[in-house]
Amino acid sequence: MPRHYTMTIAGESVNSANSQEVINPATEEVIGTAALADHATLDRAVQAARGAFPGWAATSDAERRAACEKMAGIIEANLPELAELITRETGKAQAGMGAQFEIGGAIAWTQATAALQLDPVAIRQDESSDISMHYVPMGVCASITPWNWPLLIAIWHIIPAIRTGNTVVIKPSPNSPLNTLRLVELLNECLPPGVLNVVNGGNELGEAISAHKGIDKIVFTGSTRTGRAIMRCGADNLKRLTLELGGNDAGIVLPGTDIEQLVEPLFWGSFINSGQTCAALKRLYVHDGDYDRVCAALVDFAAEVPMGDGMDTQNLLGPLQNKAQFDIVKGLVDDAKQAGARILCGGEPMPGPGFFYPVTIIADAKDGMAVVEREQFGPVLPVIRYSDLDDAIAAANGLDYGLAASVWGLDSELIDRTIAGLEAGTVYVNKHAEIAPDTPFGGIKQSGIGVEFGLEGLKAYVHQKVVNRARA
Ligand code: NAD
Repeated sequence: MPRHYTMTIAGESVNSANSQEVINPATEEVIGTAALADHATLDRAVQAARGAFPGWAATSDAERRAACEKMAGIIEANLPELAELITRETGKAQAGMGAQFEIGGAIAWTQATAALQLDPVAIRQDESSDISMHYVPMGVCASITPWNWPLLIAIWHIIPAIRTGNTVVIKPSPNSPLNTLRLVELLNECLPPGVLNVVNGGNELGEAISAHKGIDKIVFTGSTRTGRAIMRCGADNLKRLTLELGGNDAGIVLPGTDIEQLVEPLFWGSFINSGQTCAALKRLYVHDGDYDRVCAALVDFAAEVPMGDGMDTQNLLGPLQNKAQFDIVKGLVDDAKQAGARILCGGEPMPGPGFFYPVTIIADAKDGMAVVEREQFGPVLPVIRYSDLDDAIAAANGLDYGLAASVWGLDSELIDRTIAGLEAGTVYVNKHAEIAPDTPFGGIKQSGIGVEFGLEGLKAYVHQKVVNRARA
């Protein structure tokens, strides 16, 4: 009998008349059911967060730091349960850069954020004035998350908010709500009631959150389309926003690159989590002279990477997380075939059950093809030929996205020229899709507003309050 998961509001388990089923994308079996919030439940959660805010904001920095450290301990103590839930809910492998890696990341980010500190800044002291700037929490912070790295992204939103004295209402993706419902239940063990609340529901609940006057800030990770909708809805009470949106990251392999040295990070930079990663490499530009060699190296590497049910620890890659994403990926590959691209490996769905699509490397891909222009968000990499580096840089910059980009090679002059030319929030050199709790991460152009992580990320959860004293 699949387990039923409830919401947590004001420290209490909250059920509902309506519920949803959640399926395992590797087997298509129901793995659990989840309570669903209506608007009254959302109001209740916002009220709980508002009620808890003055008390939580008044706690000392040391108390909040200690609470975050305790939360890291709770996640660690529950790692096996949470990692299994992630695999069964998202399809992600237990092994490799999969579910255990995701929970390990959640622990590392919680610890690192606990250790951050925003001290007041002395601006000026002279005969007439003593001016200082203080960081104060914003109030009730809502978090809206996607399904690809659901627990890690929840932690990226929750922990800096709580660390800085805000209270939180989180809404996970309806595709993968169970891990977040369980996480919030567990974290409430060490928090005062109302500091961290979770409501569950679909896109319309997200819209209600965006428009809710009792919410001061929204941190959102998801598609650019939804980011725009949230910005529009949040305008009425000038909600503060952190938007981490879609990406269609380009990589450029410089002429004469020793691909054997780089094929492993190149492959994983693209295919991590079966490509369902915002900052994964999604288009690869390769110099004409190296094109066939690079394609062959990627195909050979792909042949050694097992895909299957993530609970089998031999597998390193799992299925697409949901049928809609599976259909998008299949449609993009089919379109590329029709447009004359060559499928070097993969290219047809794997037999069911489950939403498995194999690693697919597409040669003779061209700018303008849908598989290049649109974020595939699946295990598909189009490889595009170039002969002039400036043309490749211009093509890499040619889309509205600007999350990350990468340059691969050893020629430092060409690397510097490429770094300078690429329009992205992060430019990687000989790696891609690596993120760390001490390194700001965010998109430019249509890939987002603001950054997460480190002190710069923490500042997104506070107002700057200036105290300007006259001196007698
Ligand atoms: P999505 O935008 O469809 O949904 C994300 C969340 O927003 C879900 O919880 C959903 O219920 C909610 N939502 C949908 N419509 C809403 C609305 N009108 N108002 C408020 N909330 C609404 O995205 P997804 O399909 O879950 O995730 C995939 C996308 O997320 C990709 O584009 C990917 O690149 C992006 N992503 C970005 C990052 C990043 O850090 N930049 C990280 C992970 C995923």
